[in-house]
Amino acid sequence: MYFPQFDYHSIKQENLRGRYITYDHISGILKNLSIDFKLDELGKSVLGLPIESVTFGKGPKRILMWSQMHGNESTTTKAVFDFIGFIESKSDAALSILNNCTVKIIPMLNPDGAKAYTRINANEIDLNRDAQERSQPESRVLRNCFEEFKPDFCFNLHDQRTIFNVGRTPIPATISFLAPAHDDERTISATRELSMKLIVAMNSALKQELSGQVGRYDDSFNPNCVGDTFQLLGTPTILFEAGHYPDDYDREYTRQFMFKALMTAIDRISIDAVHEYNQEAYFEIPENNKLFYDVLIRNAHLIDSEKYTEGDSIAILFKELLQNEQIVFEPTIEKIGDLHDFYGHKTYDCDNDLNLEDLKDQPYWNML
Ligand SMILES: [Zn+2]
Repeated sequence: MYFPQFDYHSIKQENLRGRYITYDHISGILKNLSIDFKLDELGKSVLGLPIESVTFGKGPKRILMWSQMHGNESTTTKAVFDFIGFIESKSDAALSILNNCTVKIIPMLNPDGAKAYTRINANEIDLNRDAQERSQPESRVLRNCFEEFKPDFCFNLHDQRTIFNVGRTPIPATISFLAPAHDDERTISATRELSMKLIVAMNSALKQELSGQVGRYDDSFNPNCVGDTFQLLGTPTILFEAGHYPDDYDREYTRQFMFKALMTAIDRISIDAVHEYNQEAYFEIPENNKLFYDVLIRNAHLIDSEKYTEGDSIAILFKELLQNEQIVFEPTIEKIGDLHDFYGHKTYDCDNDLNLEDLKDQPYWNML
C-alpha cells in the first residue's frame, strides 16, 4: 500500500449497508460531518430532492467525483463515505490529502433514481447519455459544478452488473476501469494519458488482493457520456465500475476494494506520483466481457421436456426488485440453449455431481 496501514473497520461508514441507498440514508450522515466538510446544495432533482456536494481540503489539486448518477448503483456511494470516514480520522495520511488536495464529492447525483432503485431519473432519462443535451436538472447540476469547480481530475462512479467477466476467463470483473476516449480515433492525448496512468496505479494496488479480477471497459467514444465529454473538455476522467465478487450480492467486499482504489488514486494525485506510471500497462488490463449468468444449469434433462431440448443449458439472472425498502433478487430464466462459452456464478451440471436436494433449496427450483 502507498498509504500507511490502518484499520478499515475503524473508518467504515457502518450506517450504509447493502444495495438500497437513498437520500434519506445519506442526509443525516452529511449533516453530522465536522466543520472541515463544507456541505452545499447544488440543485434539486426532478422530484425536488436535494443534490448535495461535500467539499474538503485546501490544496491545489482539485478532484471532483460523483456517485449514483445511476440511482441503483450504490456501491461507490458506500465507498466514498468510507473515504470521508478516513479523512475524518485526521491521521497523518488524511491530513496530507487535506493539505495537497481540494476534493468535492456529489455522493448522489440521481436521488430520485436511488429512491425508486432505477438506473434512470424520474423523467426516465439515462443521465450518462445526456451530457450534450443536458435536458435534465441533474445533468445541469453536474455540468455547472464541473465548470465552477474546475477539477484537475474527475471520477465517474458506477456499478456494473454481475454479467461481466475478465477477458475470456471465468473470473468476475469485481472492479472495472475506463479512461474514456474523446474522439472516434481513441487518441491518447495528454489528458487521457493521465487517466490511464492513474488506472495503472490503482490496478497495481488492487493486484495484491484482487489479482485478475480487474477489467477494462470498451473505449468507443460516445459524446453523450459524461466521462467522454469531460475528457474532451481537457480534464482527465476515470470511469470506475464496482462489480461482482463471489457470493457478495450486497457488494460489501467490492465496496472495500473500491475504497482502496479511491484511496490509491487520491494518494497518487496528492503526492504528485501519477507520472511515475506507464500508460502502456493500461492496455495489459484485460477487457471485460459479458460471459456470466448468476446461475447456469448445464445438461438439463428430466425436467419439463416441452420447454427444453435434452442437454440444453439454462441460464438464470437475478432481477433486483425493491420490496419493503429492501432489494430482493428474483431469479428469471434469461436463456436456454447451448451455452458452453458462458459461466455461472453458481453452476450445476445435471450430468455430473448435481445434488438435487441442494438445487431444491434454491429459489429458482420452482421455475424449472
Ligand atoms: Zn452506471
